[in-house]
Amino acid sequence: MLIVMHHWATDRDIEKVKATITSMGLKPVAIPGAERTAIGVIGNEGWVDDAPLRGIKGVLEIIHVTKSYKLVSRDFHPSDTVVRLGDGVKAGGRAPFLVIAGPCAIESRDQIFKTARFLKKLGVPALRAGAYKPRTSPHSFQGLREEGIRLLSNVRKEVGILVVTEVMSPEHVEMVAGEVDILQIGARNMQNFDLLKEVGKTRKPVILKRGLSATVEEWLASAEYILLGGNPDVVLCERGIRTFETATRNTADLSVVPLVKESSHLPVIFDPSHATGKRSLVPHMALASLVVGAHGVMVEVHPDPEHALSDGPQSLHFKEFEKLLKQLRAMEGFMKTLKEQGGRWRSVS
Ligand code: PEP
Ligand code: MN
Repeated sequence: MLIVMHHWATDRDIEKVKATITSMGLKPVAIPGAERTAIGVIGNEGWVDDAPLRGIKGVLEIIHVTKSYKLVSRDFHPSDTVVRLGDGVKAGGRAPFLVIAGPCAIESRDQIFKTARFLKKLGVPALRAGAYKPRTSPHSFQGLREEGIRLLSNVRKEVGILVVTEVMSPEHVEMVAGEVDILQIGARNMQNFDLLKEVGKTRKPVILKRGLSATVEEWLASAEYILLGGNPDVVLCERGIRTFETATRNTADLSVVPLVKESSHLPVIFDPSHATGKRSLVPHMALASLVVGAHGVMVEVHPDPEHALSDGPQSLHFKEFEKLLKQLRAMEGFMKTLKEQGGRWRSVS
């Protein structure tokens, strides 16, 4: 439920509304706005009788929200959320286009340090690498698990780069959150609600991937679990969806980037590696995501993709990544110029 106040409503009127909501056993959420003051209501599991609020002075309108998410929506939070990932590194709003890169999985000390040093030299702020790997077949490499987290933690300290890794089970959340900068919830776990509740309790930013066959509403409802748990720092990540098409690993659904930005204030990044499954397509789709307004990309890169233990065919070689990075920076400058010039490009944000 959303209570919209008249522009002339006083602080006392607003406080009265909030106190009434609290007395109904619910929680008021102040919604910032330049012209109107609104108060969101959370804590109800069904329809709420709004009778106690109707007569209060200054109330203009009461809107019953029927979506499966509230805190994630622009109704409750009109301005863009900018998530702080580390010192000087942010995602969302007008923050610089974020580039996260690294191998699918941590395979060895040599592999992860080599990649981290390469990225650091290029000025890439964050390294991605999986320690706990969700693999379709139990016969495939399952990741170095605890040993992988240890290596990642060492890389983080010795190289001085932010690290992102996937957490697959609620029992691991506290330990992993203590060692890395950013937690990743993988596509296969997007609706692991116990896991979402657990990362909601941490103070680490969370990259929430869209599920393989999840609708946008389901994806945003999953983000709602994390925000409702008390962690506001969620970055959404589109990574391609399942369709009838098998020519690509997944179907890169880039239209959701501007779509999600209409309904949610959270940053949205794009993963062109899993979205296509094909190295040659990755640079095209990474650049395209920037043009449609993504706040960043997460790209798989490996020192020796031909011998990678997972996702080699979609991982860029170092040289290819370096070229893509230059192109992304050039495209970012170009888009900025277009936006500054205004006109019809203004809608591209
Ligand atoms: C990954 O990032 O390596 C990964 C497993 O991604 P997804 O969950 O999108 O399949
Ligand atoms: Mn992968």
